[in-house]
Amino acid sequence: MLDIASLAELLAQPQKIVITTHHKPDGDAMGSSLGLYNYLIQQGHYVNVIAPTDYPAYLSWMPGNDEVIVYTERLEDAATLIEEAKIIFCLDFNALSRINEMGDLVGKSNAVKVLIDHHLEPEDFADYSCWDTKACATAQLVYTFIVNELNHKELVNKDVATCLYVGIMTDSASFCLPNVTADVHRITADLIDAGAVNWQIYDHVYNNSPENRLRFLGLCLSERLEVLYEYNTAIFAVAKEDLEKYGIQTGETEGIVNYALSIAGIKMAAFVVERSDKVKLSLRSKGEIPVNDICKKYFNGGGHRNASGGTSDGSLQEVVNKFKQILPEYKKLLIQ
Ligand code: 5GP
Ligand code: MN
Repeated sequence: MLDIASLAELLAQPQKIVITTHHKPDGDAMGSSLGLYNYLIQQGHYVNVIAPTDYPAYLSWMPGNDEVIVYTERLEDAATLIEEAKIIFCLDFNALSRINEMGDLVGKSNAVKVLIDHHLEPEDFADYSCWDTKACATAQLVYTFIVNELNHKELVNKDVATCLYVGIMTDSASFCLPNVTADVHRITADLIDAGAVNWQIYDHVYNNSPENRLRFLGLCLSERLEVLYEYNTAIFAVAKEDLEKYGIQTGETEGIVNYALSIAGIKMAAFVVERSDKVKLSLRSKGEIPVNDICKKYFNGGGHRNASGGTSDGSLQEVVNKFKQILPEYKKLLIQ
């Protein structure tokens, strides 16, 4: 274990640094990674952000994006950078399996590993951790790491602020979740003071869909949604053919699950989608319903209490049936 003074001392000299985040990166994964990147490059560090897989166009505009390495597209370069890194920052994940094959490389590396994350139950692989499950986003923790732990508020420039704003906005469902405290709003206000243009960032992320994504959303809402009022639960089930017909790319299904939670009385929503290799589930809930438990126990996954994901090897219909069979176990919480 390293203390903050030793880490700050290490960071006082230019270092080879890798920043990585979970596969299929979302707004918080890329926002927190690029926010940290834009902070570190100001101090002369040699920094590379390596994403395990690609990510959607609505996240591909942030400052520093052109320098991001996608692991699956540059295996050897990425392996060399990981091997040579003195410090590896692990952002928005806490189990090495979440970075796919990169997990082995990071696990084997002799670099100092710094975990910044807000997911439950971290694995024990980091030398220094900024870990708080109450944080609404990893980007919030990157902000407190830079400002409170390293005392570098003056280095939160427009680029840092823009990326961190993306992380907080996307992971908090645009400041709507119970973990959005007054402190989060104070941090967000600091980011706006530092140059983040809130309305423009919203526009880049949410008003930037290709037409097919909106039409696909129409299909999901009208044809692929089943509502089980007995359990206050709604389920989207989407087949591979649907994705192909509408040309839906990685990340373009993000957020659709939340529409089901907008139905009065619905407390849990599932988005079940047939990917090329596995069936992927995204679960969302309100209040005390622990969807992370469901994902962990039944779908090889995890996440937060109100937002979790997992996968299964069964067919789409089998996974939907399995999910329905689980509902009686949670009925008491669901109908409260
Ligand atoms: P999503 O449904 O958007 O893919 O994921 C929701 C949340 O659950 C995210 O915080 C994500 O990090 C977490 N999550 C998604 N899939 C998995 C998984 O397979 N394992 C674990 N541990 N967490 C996951
Ligand atoms: Mn996050």
